Amino acid sequence: MSAILVFEFVKSLAEFVSDGCQLVSRDQYAARLEACQGCEIRNGPVCDRERGGCGCRIALKAAAKTWECPHPLGSRWPAV
Ligand code: SF4
Repeated sequence: MSAILVFEFVKSLAEFVSDGCQLVSRDQYAARLEACQGCEIRNGPVCDRERGGCGCRIALKAAAKTWECPHPLGSRWPAV
């Protein structure tokens, strides 16, 4: 794991904790995963950095309320 990925992970974790570790609802989680299914940036289970994504595992990233879809053209996730 590169230093940049470690930094991004720690930063994201700090955001999650400072947001009170809030998770999205089951329906919101499903809607996020559905959006990722059709996304050109997704590469298997990962939001691919080389395609403009964040490098996170989608199943994890979609669960936290504070984390956002990093699509370069704007979020593909429905508003929470
Ligand atoms: S850019 Fe957004 S919609 Fe696309 S795979 Fe990443 S998190 Fe999912």
